[in-house]
Amino acid sequence: MKAERVAEEMTKFPFDNTYARELSGFYAACLPEDKPEANLLYLNRTLAEDLCLDLNLYEKSALAELFSGNRLPEGAEPIAQAYAGHQFGHFSPQLGDGRALIIGEVINQQGKRYDICFKGSGRTPFSRGGDGKAAIGPMLREVLIGEGMHALGVPTTRALAVAATGEPVYRDKVLPGAVLTRVAASHIRIGTFQFFAARGEHDRVKRLADYTIARHCPALLGKTDSYLEFLRFATAGQAALVAQWMSLGFIHGVMNTDNVSIAGETIDYGPCAFMEAYDPNAVFSSIDGQGRYAYRNQPLIAQWNLARLAETLLPLLSDDEHRAISLAKEVLESFPETYRHNWMEIMCAKLGLRGGKDQDLLADTALLDEWLALLHTDKVDYTLAWRRLADAAEGRLSELRELFSEQKALDAWLAKWQTRCAEVDRRSVSMNGIDAAQRRGHAMREVNPWLIPRNHHVEEALAAASDEHDLDPFEELLVALQRPYDEDLKLAKFAEPADASFTAGYRTFCGT
Ligand code: AMP
Ligand code: MG
Repeated sequence: MKAERVAEEMTKFPFDNTYARELSGFYAACLPEDKPEANLLYLNRTLAEDLCLDLNLYEKSALAELFSGNRLPEGAEPIAQAYAGHQFGHFSPQLGDGRALIIGEVINQQGKRYDICFKGSGRTPFSRGGDGKAAIGPMLREVLIGEGMHALGVPTTRALAVAATGEPVYRDKVLPGAVLTRVAASHIRIGTFQFFAARGEHDRVKRLADYTIARHCPALLGKTDSYLEFLRFATAGQAALVAQWMSLGFIHGVMNTDNVSIAGETIDYGPCAFMEAYDPNAVFSSIDGQGRYAYRNQPLIAQWNLARLAETLLPLLSDDEHRAISLAKEVLESFPETYRHNWMEIMCAKLGLRGGKDQDLLADTALLDEWLALLHTDKVDYTLAWRRLADAAEGRLSELRELFSEQKALDAWLAKWQTRCAEVDRRSVSMNGIDAAQRRGHAMREVNPWLIPRNHHVEEALAAASDEHDLDPFEELLVALQRPYDEDLKLAKFAEPADASFTAGYRTFCGT
């Protein structure tokens, strides 16, 4: 340990490092590697403020030293967490942070605890054959998509900073290196539980579960069935998260169990992408040849991943194995229903049918299925279709029509939808006439974004930053992504889909 690296002149972060303190044996202490020429590319000052990190006195060069890992803030206790994981269905008993270090935990202004983590800071005892490094492009990608997701209202890890390192990173070509500082509710993954369970260290699984419960669902502490309730908590989190992904056309791309956060945040923006033309089979990841993590499979995979978590918890659920299995099964089998409930709630809101009664669920499901089938057949842009449906609610149909070639089918569907809207309005005291139409349009625009991080714009911005040291397109896009539900004509280019040919050939990479 090179503790002297903690520089006297650096501000103290208000760290309170519970994982390092309470879970010795669950990680390896390790320092970041020195970076030859640190240069700050991005800093999220609003997030820093929310985390009570006082960065205002820092010069840019000091910030670069800080966020490259060259100078740790006082109180930092960097650790590489141990975890395992099912990768594309195959179990790897030891993965762990091979290029990441959690430098500490802080409490934000609302009293919520967060990990502060470096990604790309160098080799760790878990690096195996890897170099521990990250490149500018994929780290800025985490910024764009993570911040985009945050603005869309999706639970996610967030980017606090990116510093270029001045080091070359050798991939299929030589790339400029960078360190991302990531903030997460925690980095406890399904794979963290798997690591200890696979080694038969059930006492450690229990310690980890106790720690996680205290950190993420303290209301369960001391309850007799707290571990079963914990499984329910993780299940509810995934059901809610994946329903949001699906509603936005987001494809995570690498839903391995080591990339599933127990806290229910989206984590690890590698080969993720947003769907453009609606296609349930959409998959962009270059390493997902079988389409395991295709758009439509995401809920099923979430349930599969939760089953892997449940397996690790069995000894905690009951001394009687059969009983433990049946308890776990009951929770796992509730996933489709929980997921569907979350999904229908969001989708009904997207359709402008919020306030519909339960008995109409079948009718709403049919309406939704027909709408999605129309989008699929006509290869309509998913995001724009929903957004323009909000205009249609107010009687402005022309822009929606432009998206479809099958006008007759669209008209037939619109007639059914309008009938359904009128039905909902009749039953609602607060909605009538013109007012109802405007309210519906307004409510729909709050759940149907105008702007998402579109793949072609993301790639353009990253190429400029990585290949030409030009951060302008990155910054411009980042600003645009901050208010995705507000239409702003100055930003219109970012709302436009890519050419179909771009999307057809679009491939994403893990960024390792
Ligand atoms: P990911 O696909 O990013 O979720 O990473 C899977 C595993 O590979 C994790 O244990 C990472 O820490 C590790 N890993 C990915 N890239 C590197 C790298 N360049 N050097 C060392 N370990 C890596
Ligand atoms: Mg990962």
